[in-house]
Amino acid sequence: MDIVWHDHKITRAERAEPKHQRPCLLWFTGLSGSGKSTIANALDVALYRRGYHTFLLDGDNVRHGLNKDLGFSDSDRVENIRRIGEVSKLFTDAGLIVLSAFISPFTSDRRMVRNLFPSGEFIEVFMDTPLETCEDRDPKGLYEKAREGKIKHFTGIDSPYEPPEHAEVVLDTSRQSVEDCIDQLIGYLLEHGVVLESR
Ligand code: ADP
Repeated sequence: MDIVWHDHKITRAERAEPKHQRPCLLWFTGLSGSGKSTIANALDVALYRRGYHTFLLDGDNVRHGLNKDLGFSDSDRVENIRRIGEVSKLFTDAGLIVLSAFISPFTSDRRMVRNLFPSGEFIEVFMDTPLETCEDRDPKGLYEKAREGKIKHFTGIDSPYEPPEHAEVVLDTSRQSVEDCIDQLIGYLLEHGVVLESR
């Protein structure tokens, strides 16, 4: 292919510098109902209030737009995650802290996204909320439909979830409040120099 990669005149470091933050991707993975959207949104708000520049990507908004041509076959699921990874990367190139919330049940898909990023910039946040709690919550009524066989290949019911073994952050919203989760995440970001103590 005759496509030439143009080096930008402004580097990604230069783009991030005036924002006083280190760009990264926080990748929230876990079962439906485990709290990915709730915690990613709450962290987005907490960072925004402290003056950081963030962007939130989640399953529904991406499937309605960028990925509306994709279904739920194995190959479409891989392509869904691949595109989200590439878009997340572009946003980090723009200097942002990106929060992405997708079930992303397969280790290989999460590894593919991790490998797009320099070391330390991919922060895997495993929502380790037990299936029982997720199913009790059933915020969208999806587990009930899956149990009735009205939805096939539903993660946790008739499709596997491969838990991360080396996630940077592990949260369990059956035992931790939203505030606890946010404190733990901000603690991680401070400790790793993504955000600054002084704000
Ligand atoms: P996911 O994005 O993983 O599908 P959601 O965030 O949409 O999960 O749903 C989680 C549900 O659990 C929400 O209805 C939320 O209000 C509820 N919930 C109860 N306790 C917590 C908690 N400590 N942290 C996050 N969500 C919680």
